Amino acid sequence: MLIDGHGRKVDYLRVSVTERCNFRCQYCMPEKPFSWVPKENLLSFEELFLFIKVAIDEGVTKIRLTGGEPLLREDLDSFIKMISDYKPDIDLALTTNGYLLPEASQRLKDAGLKRLNISLDSLKADVASKIAGKDVLDKVLDGIDKALAVGLKVKINMVPLKGINDDEILDIMQYCKDRNIKVRFIEYMENQHAQESLQGMHGKEILAKVKEKHTIKALGREGASPSFNYALEDGTEFGLIDPHKHDFCENCNRIRLTAEGNLIPCLYFDEAMSIAEAVRNKDIEKATQVLAKVLKDKPKENRWSEYNPNEDDISKRAFYETGG
Ligand code: SAM
Ligand code: SF4
Repeated sequence: MLIDGHGRKVDYLRVSVTERCNFRCQYCMPEKPFSWVPKENLLSFEELFLFIKVAIDEGVTKIRLTGGEPLLREDLDSFIKMISDYKPDIDLALTTNGYLLPEASQRLKDAGLKRLNISLDSLKADVASKIAGKDVLDKVLDGIDKALAVGLKVKINMVPLKGINDDEILDIMQYCKDRNIKVRFIEYMENQHAQESLQGMHGKEILAKVKEKHTIKALGREGASPSFNYALEDGTEFGLIDPHKHDFCENCNRIRLTAEGNLIPCLYFDEAMSIAEAVRNKDIEKATQVLAKVLKDKPKENRWSEYNPNEDDISKRAFYETGG
């Protein structure tokens, strides 16, 4: 079992398989063009898998593949199959913007993927393209339908932004209700790569919007999930991911691995240790040692509630590198 320096059980590994993306979401990517990490710096799937096996053997029971856009990485389904064959009962999930799902859903399902979180910030074509930087809505909606049709379990992620999509919270809720899928509203997390003018909605404001039409009942956090669950009057459940809240980190159970091999204990802070050399040398003992050190030093809590971009310890890594 993996226990961090604050006594929390860590059993969840998020793996970013690429930082590259086919979208340029305003809350995640800089507007100006930038260069990607050279491909030779990325770990191969075999190298990532070597660390994943260490993590599973040490107690990780849940793995989420993310990015950047994970479906851009070639042969992702063979990587999914490697993990799923190694530990068939692992809770294996993927977070995607959905754009490539019309073609990829069946392959992902056949490879052993169980669950998908799909980002859907708007049901209006012009707003969706304003947020993502290109015309995306039809493909994303088609991707959601295809994923459901092949039998993947789907959740929707929405990041409500003031003056952009804050009028669509109830519409997205209804869209999900119609398909019997759960939506999670994510508070915008301030970061240095997002468009400066953006203003996110805080949890209380999101709940106030929902209350304009519904009565809601607080259900609580689902185990160590970052999502606080609520139910509408008819039992429909939805989640709120509110990292600005003080108790958000109490049960944090996760660590993150980037495509370059940086093992990151907390999204908010810059700290990370590389497992790249260890896995390139197939040095399992070293990889296990790095994992233990990262867990020992995992910070107690983020400081989004008092976000100040000038503080030194705030991570300069973008969410498309760490997987959000
Ligand atoms: N490209 C995939 C996608 O968009 O779903 C996976 C990577 S993305 C970084 C993972 C999640 O992080 C998405 O649900 C996205 O909406 C969320 N995200 C990205 N930047 C964020 C921010 N600044 N605040 C809150 N959520 C953010
Ligand atoms: Fe790409 Fe996802 Fe970031 Fe949007 S949120 S730019 S889809 S990585």
